[in-house]
Amino acid sequence: MIEGSCLCGAVTIRLAAHDPAVTACHCRMCLRWTGGPFAGFDAPVEAVSISGKVAIYASSAFAERAFCPRCGSHLWFRDTVPAGRPYEFPPGLFPAADGFPLTREVYADRAPRWARFAGAHDRVGAAEYETDNPFVREGDVP
Ligand SMILES: [Zn+2]
Ligand SMILES: [Zn+2]
Repeated sequence: MIEGSCLCGAVTIRLAAHDPAVTACHCRMCLRWTGGPFAGFDAPVEAVSISGKVAIYASSAFAERAFCPRCGSHLWFRDTVPAGRPYEFPPGLFPAADGFPLTREVYADRAPRWARFAGAHDRVGAAEYETDNPFVREGDVP
């Protein structure tokens, strides 16, 4: 069990299970949402317990982005289609995630110059990612 919270503490998230590996996404929607790449690690829906008031923005026809309505902290990204997809939580909410490795970048070929991560992790470009995830194509605004 690991626990995280937003900046103001109004929202608390407990995870009974999670994948201790971080993916960074450089798509334009994530850049706009976070101001930089979105970093996230997965947790299965059934392992997630959330307390506190949460605001949810449907950022596309297939995904939602949640935030604390009081302090604005980003809480999760989640594909809503197809059903049952895992939550993706920002590691910064969870002190226990400080040791998680960066294992994957998506939209790696779109990474801003100031956000290019060194290391031997997987790098997936926009074309490859959208071929593997056809429902995502409309989501990356130009
Ligand atoms: Zn908050
Ligand atoms: Zn993204």
